[in-house]
Order: sequence, then structure tokens, then C-alpha cells
Amino acid sequence: MLAHAVRGRSSRLFGPSVWRGDTGRKAIAITFDDGPSESTPILMDTLREFGVPATFFQCGSNIRRLPDIARAVNAAGYEIGNHSDSHPLCCFRSASFIQNDFQRAQQTIEDTVGLTPSLMRAPFGVRWFGYRSMQEQLGLLGVMWTVIGRDWKLPAQAICDRVLKAARNGSIVCLHDGRFCRTRPDISNTLEAVKRILPALLERGYHFETVTQILCPQA
Ligand SMILES: [Zn+2]
Repeated sequence: MLAHAVRGRSSRLFGPSVWRGDTGRKAIAITFDDGPSESTPILMDTLREFGVPATFFQCGSNIRRLPDIARAVNAAGYEIGNHSDSHPLCCFRSASFIQNDFQRAQQTIEDTVGLTPSLMRAPFGVRWFGYRSMQEQLGLLGVMWTVIGRDWKLPAQAICDRVLKAARNGSIVCLHDGRFCRTRPDISNTLEAVKRILPALLERGYHFETVTQILCPQA
């Protein structure tokens, strides 16, 4: 995995991150941030319907609010990454603040789900000084995205159009099954978009992988 990581931009300052996976195969990794939320089970039903694996970057505070849903995501075989504890905007924050927030989420995932993530995604996609040491301390590779659906504001068809237009071999797609750490977020546009995106990409001959699989096809 680290062979891909060193290709990331800004890795010397902000820690290693990846933006896409192996481009030699018709594989796409679909990822969901800011969960778990009350609507995550509905999303999992759609993923299951199409037999699609996915990666969920979850927030520690949401996991403590909805531990059963976090465990259900893992039990269904989806990959779980660390998306911080409180979803802070980390620019201008101290290295110790960043370390503590991700450490708390890492501990919550370990205690609740029983696994130790090796992937993390920066809240708002904003990395900062302090990420590098935090990632080294916690053993986390940063995962950005090739395509972001802007699903927090666009209607379902616009989300779908954005993703389908940009999808290529090795794309990492970023969508959201929550909204920061809010209770009962409305993710209905995302849910509807996913119902259209999955069959359209399968129809084009793509298959779906977790982020780990798309970075390390041999793993
Ligand atoms: Zn987020």
C-alpha cells in the first residue's frame, strides 16, 4: 500500500495520502464519510442489492452514538476507516489536537467494532501540519478521492451525473452517509444517487473494490 502512498502530493508536509488506486483494471472504490448515521442501514441495503463492497470513513462520536450500526457495517464486510472523532476543521490546529482527535476515534473503533483501521480521511479533505506525525503514530494512510459527489448539496441526478462523468479505472469516489456529527442527517439525495450510480457503472463493465483492494490488488 505504501508504494502507492509515496506518490501522493504534499506527503512530505502533511503525511502520505492517495487519490486513486490501480488504474490497470476496471475497478472503482466507493467510499462514504461522516457515518454511521441512522440512514446507513438503508444504504447498506442498496450496496447489498448490487453486491458492491465499500469503505466507510466513520467519525468516533457518531460510532458512540450508533454503535450497533457501526458494528453492522463491519459485520456486513465493509471496510472501516478513521474520519476523526469530532469532524474538526484541522487547519491552524495544533499537532496535539489533531493527534488526540484521531486517537480518540481510533480507540472508539477498536473498542466498538474490534478492529484497528489502517486508513484515514481528513475532515473536509483539509490536511495540516500534524497529520504526518499523527499518521505515523497511529499507522494510518491518508485517503483522498478522485471524484467527490458534492452530495451534501446537489440533487440525486446531479450527484449521479458528476460521478459517472468522472469515473475512470482506479477512481476513489467520495460520498456521505452522514453529515458531520449531526443526529438524523438527511442523506436522501445520496441514497437515491447511489441507486443510479451502481447499476450504471456495473453496466459500463466496472467492478467495485474496497480502498485497500484497489490500492493493493494482490493483497
Ligand atoms: Zn467528513
